[in-house]
Amino acid sequence: MSGELLPLMEAFYTIQGEGYYKGTAAYFIRLAGCDVGCHWCDVKESWDATAHPLVPIEQIAEQALTHSKTIIITGGEPLMYNLLPLTQLLRSHGARTHIETSGAHPLSGEWDWICLSPKKNKRPLSPIHQVANELKMVIYNHHDFLFAEEMSALTHADCIRYLQPEWSRREKMIPLMVDYVMEYPQWKISLQMHKYLDIP
Ligand code: SF4
Repeated sequence: MSGELLPLMEAFYTIQGEGYYKGTAAYFIRLAGCDVGCHWCDVKESWDATAHPLVPIEQIAEQALTHSKTIIITGGEPLMYNLLPLTQLLRSHGARTHIETSGAHPLSGEWDWICLSPKKNKRPLSPIHQVANELKMVIYNHHDFLFAEEMSALTHADCIRYLQPEWSRREKMIPLMVDYVMEYPQWKISLQMHKYLDIP
């Protein structure tokens, strides 16, 4: 796919609820399609790209730029597509481009911020660990702490490292995460603030 048409599930202006930019206004472009298959995924309706329309990038960008100069491209897994044309278009209008990705497909696009959120089912391809600005590890069970350390070891020193509880497991995992971050302070805790605020 050339990247001139992209399967769009939804796009909306809201507050970033997670990670380094939490609390800041941003426009989200959620592309459809994901082959990673996390059992706890909270956007399973994004998995089937054919269930969503292919939209010209000019149309996606025009809508986005009427709302914000901070554009976050998410999914699904957005790196299933060539994101160079869309990100170049957005940047040519002065926008900042952010991505949220599992890194399971080759990196494309021009980015001001890369949030890498690796998943065990389909691990990130190199060299994304070395260019990620933010590493966000979802914690569902005890083993996820080990996976977080495995991914952290591949990631460059300046990357900001977050542990984020999977939403349905937050009551069980947050106390463990608090202890963990006090013991290993290179990590920070990220919460899905938008869910507490009840916004998209
Ligand atoms: S990578 Fe993201 S969109 Fe894909 S299954 Fe996992 S949580 Fe869901």
